[in-house]
This record gives sequence, structure tokens and C-alpha cells, in this order.
Amino acid sequence: MIDQQGWLTNARRCVSPHYNERPNNAQVSLLVIHNISLPPGKFGGAYIDDLFLGQLDCCADPYFAQLRGLQVSAHCLINRLGEITQYVSFNNRAWHAGISQFDGIDNCNDYSIGIELEGGDDTPYCHAQYLSLAMLSKHIQYAYPLISMERITGHSDIAPGRKTDPGPAFDWVNYFDRLQKN
Ligand SMILES: [Zn+2]
Repeated sequence: MIDQQGWLTNARRCVSPHYNERPNNAQVSLLVIHNISLPPGKFGGAYIDDLFLGQLDCCADPYFAQLRGLQVSAHCLINRLGEITQYVSFNNRAWHAGISQFDGIDNCNDYSIGIELEGGDDTPYCHAQYLSLAMLSKHIQYAYPLISMERITGHSDIAPGRKTDPGPAFDWVNYFDRLQKN
């Protein structure tokens, strides 16, 4: 399911230029859950792909003006249908966390995998998204066994006061229940 180069073998792939090497061979040991929608609260379409590929038309929506020149990415996006797109190899460093800290270690991008759920903090996520997220997380934990259950976290937990995603709508109990089942 995840090949030696760090790519899902059966997911849609859009290769982002927004990544670099993990410094000092940092071991992949953290999974960070996010949400995103563009413009906020609107689902569907290709704007998230465009943002992560550095191709967003910043005139397409008034909100996008503030995103001009922003270089961000995530390893994967799970859309409202539960479909997975991968943008960056899990072996490389995607640019999703920003200023962040987990368990006393700064710069979570160096050693984490970032997954975006298409959604908003207060909008219930779709059943299909929980199914895909749990399946994807299992594959990631198998390939990167340092990611224990205790090392799966939300963006809001590693950047408190700065980030709020995945938000109160994200059902951690549902997610962890699915993750712990076969
Ligand atoms: Zn986030």
C-alpha cells in the first residue's frame, strides 16, 4: 500500500513542489490531522489541489488574496467522498504544521506526516472520511511504526492558540475506535 519511495500505491497522486528533505534523517514518528476547505466552508472543486501545487488563482475568490505566495502542502487530503490524494512522499517533509511542538520537540514538519480532511472545525465530517482516514492511518503506522497511538494528534494540539483544526467536529473516539479494529 505504501511503496519504498513513500507513495500510496493506489491513491490519486498530485505531486507538489512544496516539500523538502527531512533534516538529519529525522525519523517519521508523528501523525498530524488537519482540516481545510477553500474557500472556507465550501467543499468540492480543485482549489485545495491548486493551493498545494502552487497554482491557486488568487483572483478566483476574495478569500484567496491572503493566500498569495503561500507555500504549503500536506502529505494527503481526504475529500468529502473519502477519496485520498497524495501530494508529497511520506519520506519527505511536507509543509503543513508551521510553528509547532509535540512532546517538547519543535518543528513537527521535520518528523511528522500531515493529513488534511476536507472540512471545517464545526462541520461534521463524513462517514467516508473516517473510513478512509482509519485505513490510511493503519497503512502509515505499518510503514512507520514509531507512530504509536499516542503519537497521533491534531494541528490544534501542536500549535495551540494559533491553529484550531481539526476542530470540535472531529470525532476522535470514532476515529480511534476504527483504527484499533482490524
Ligand atoms: Zn492544520
